[in-house]
Amino acid sequence: MNSLSLQNKHYDNYFGQQTNLRQTGIEIIGDVPWGTHFCQFYKTKQDLLDILIPYFKAGLKNNELCIWVTSEFLTAQEAMAAMKKIIPGFSNYLKKGQIEIFPSTEWYLKGGIFEMKRVLNDWVTKHDYALKKGYEGLRVSGNPFWIDNKKDWDDFAAYEAEINNVIYMYKLLVLCTYSLKKCVSEEILDVVSNHEFALIKRRRKWENIESVGHKKMEEALRKSEKRYRSLMDNMLEGCQIIDSNWRYIYLNDSASFHSHLNKNDLIGHTLMEKYPGIEKTEVFKYLKRCMVKRKPHRMENYFVYPDNTKIWYELSIEPIPEGIFVLSLDITERKKVEEKLKELNYQKDEFISIASHELKTPISSIKIMSQLASKKLTKSNDKSTLDLVNRIEGQVEKLTSLVGDLLDASRIQSGKLDLKKDKFELVELIKEVISDITTTYETEKPFSIEFKTKQKIIINADRFRLTQVLSNLFTNAIKYSPEGGKINVNVKKKNNAIEVSVTDYGIGIPKEKQDLIFNRFYQAERQKDKENRFSSLGLGLYISSNIIKQHGGKIWVESDRGKGSTFFFTLPIN
Ligand code: ADP
Repeated sequence: MNSLSLQNKHYDNYFGQQTNLRQTGIEIIGDVPWGTHFCQFYKTKQDLLDILIPYFKAGLKNNELCIWVTSEFLTAQEAMAAMKKIIPGFSNYLKKGQIEIFPSTEWYLKGGIFEMKRVLNDWVTKHDYALKKGYEGLRVSGNPFWIDNKKDWDDFAAYEAEINNVIYMYKLLVLCTYSLKKCVSEEILDVVSNHEFALIKRRRKWENIESVGHKKMEEALRKSEKRYRSLMDNMLEGCQIIDSNWRYIYLNDSASFHSHLNKNDLIGHTLMEKYPGIEKTEVFKYLKRCMVKRKPHRMENYFVYPDNTKIWYELSIEPIPEGIFVLSLDITERKKVEEKLKELNYQKDEFISIASHELKTPISSIKIMSQLASKKLTKSNDKSTLDLVNRIEGQVEKLTSLVGDLLDASRIQSGKLDLKKDKFELVELIKEVISDITTTYETEKPFSIEFKTKQKIIINADRFRLTQVLSNLFTNAIKYSPEGGKINVNVKKKNNAIEVSVTDYGIGIPKEKQDLIFNRFYQAERQKDKENRFSSLGLGLYISSNIIKQHGGKIWVESDRGKGSTFFFTLPIN
């Protein structure tokens, strides 16, 4: 196998971000990406030196921290002597600590026990130290020569498999050396399948054998990674993957753009390094919660960049096996529109409030004057003019009620709808409102409001405001029953509340609009008056629901389109 096909064989580390290949120094391999885990079978000391000396020589030359875990087969002293002989300037590398040599008993067997987690952690710590010290990454060689029982062998095999699961996250090259004399054939298969490829000497020449399982897995991985990679690379949303040591392991171009930093300057570095003080921020609180407690979170947040631009982001933070995944969407434009809308809404509310106040006085004057005119015309018996004036009065009534609704809606908006509570009997009030509406409400189709109860219910409430709610519900029931007919009113005591319901058999309300009708200015179906003009504003239920809520009650509707509606409200008693 030549070095070219090997380069192609390796899928890039995290979605192609750590594409800078490393020289292995081993001729038949050539260059490999960070995250390569391979092995060598040896029979003699010379076999080991053939591979490991050029391997470490290349690492030292290319500014990598190197760690060689030796065995009694080739001791630390022997390794050191061999390197001194062949690697130019070796003593300098040793002096500045760029190469460290550990006997396997010291590295793998602290306290005489092999503990996978601890050993893996030690590698990660060394790796982080390497990056902190400004090395390109970590190059290591380990060996299981010390193993002399089945349990340790199985544990070591599990450890090798685990390396495959995590190595892609690190700037790490791992070359494991296995003594052919110590492996039975089954074990050789274990070793081959746990590594991307194995070097073995045949007829005095080094050859490279690839694990079939690994190859297949790699193929499948490459395919799915390719899909995700192109998806994520091209997303407008920023995608970042941060590992459990707070290190960036992947960023797409959008994330790099959002962060105002080059992604290559971020990969491999920690969040804290790149954003000093980030631990004190609100965002970090949720990043940490996600990292530690594995809890996803969504939030809006803004950053002020050094050039003073303020950018809003929607952040979606998800836990993933490697650490956390952060999706960021630039919502600055949306925020600007929201601000503008808020401002416009504020202006609209201001306008409604001022206009309705200003309209109140002239309407009252018209009302008084038309009442006077009506009296005079009755006296002079001018019936046709009297009829005109009466119609003016009718329209003034409507105008008064519309302006009243606008004023109430403004009061609610500014939190100034104060209640004046009194104790009174509710059934009596309901009867009064029914009688009032039955005599004054003008409609072409006859209607009747039925309410039968002998109960007496004393409540402590604002009588005027409750009258308003009841009138609204009754007039709606009439208004939205174009064929006329019955309207039923009921009162029921329920625990510490009283429930009032108003049922009509009119047009009903579609399910999807039933929650919306309590919103300001919302109309499920716009209703036209006799002159074919829209005659209401969609404020009645908004005001009613606010009045009920201010009393500590609830309001809701149950309705079937075409069959009718029942509006319910509750009020606390006692
Ligand atoms: P409006 O002044 O439009 O009647 P409301 O706030 O009182 O305003 O009601 C909001 C909307 O709810 C109405 O426009 C109507 O579409 C719907 N609605 C209210 N009551 C009924 C009802 N009894 N039957 C059918 N639809 C109703």
